[in-house]
Amino acid sequence: MKGRKIKKKPTIILVCSVILFVVLAIFITKTINELNYRKTIEYKLISIGYSKEETSLLAKKTDEKFMETLLDKEYDKMYLNIIKEKFFIKNKVNEYIKYYEDNLNSQANEIVTKVNAGANKKWYEQVKDTDLSKDILMINNKFYKLPSDYEPEDLVDVKNWYAYGDTPKLRKKAYESFISMFNAAKKENITIIINSAYRSYKKQEELYNQYLSQYGKEYTDAYAARPGHSEHQTGLTVDVTTYGSNGDNFDKTEAFKWLQDNAHLYGFILRYPKGKEDITGYDYESWHYRYVGVDAATTIHDNDITFDEYYAYYIENAS
Ligand SMILES: [Zn+2]
Repeated sequence: MKGRKIKKKPTIILVCSVILFVVLAIFITKTINELNYRKTIEYKLISIGYSKEETSLLAKKTDEKFMETLLDKEYDKMYLNIIKEKFFIKNKVNEYIKYYEDNLNSQANEIVTKVNAGANKKWYEQVKDTDLSKDILMINNKFYKLPSDYEPEDLVDVKNWYAYGDTPKLRKKAYESFISMFNAAKKENITIIINSAYRSYKKQEELYNQYLSQYGKEYTDAYAARPGHSEHQTGLTVDVTTYGSNGDNFDKTEAFKWLQDNAHLYGFILRYPKGKEDITGYDYESWHYRYVGVDAATTIHDNDITFDEYYAYYIENAS
């Protein structure tokens, strides 16, 4: 009996020591983890009011550098609203915040739209060259310029059957799609006539200068594109009309209604829609259609966005 007792004691001590050691180890690990966690941006963001879900959303959609900048600002739900926008682009996040801080009454959707389209800048500010390699998806607006010698290689003559005036020219793909669209409309007794299509740099220059001498710079810039900035130079654009329309009232016609519902099925979009003047930089032009191909046109139509926004999100951001 005595011998057994002697044997048991060290065992108890050993067990107790192990338990103590484990408890201590857990405690130390927990403390270290807690101290480390307190150093994280997540913890710091939570301590200024962001929820766990919000911080993980920030971590998923932005980067540490951006989250650090939030630590200098008060909690604001708007930062989350911006990030949740469908067309949020990660590398534009600082531009969104800047726009918001300059326009505190703006909505998240407006902020993302304006910045993506470049419309947070002054028109013709920081002009870049149009990326010609994007082919039918090339962009040409007040921030993207075509070279003065750019003339599409595949321009074809538009048959008089489809157009008014001197034989206009269009790029082959755009022309073929226009004919399909023309025929489909015709079946519903609607005639879509091309008023104007390709316009060279030189022609646009003449037009612009003519306006300039007559009306001055401010008015001219509001109504005429500067040379290199006219979408007509891409050869992918048509100004259309229909019987009985004088041009300006085109949006009151059946042809316009038909185009609203069907143009995208043939790869065309209304390029300068009503109510989006401050995104496109152009007055509403119910007659001006741009060929971008069926996929892009359908996305633009279904999301009710402009080509400028489409380009930023689906072309530039994706490449
Ligand atoms: Zn036009």
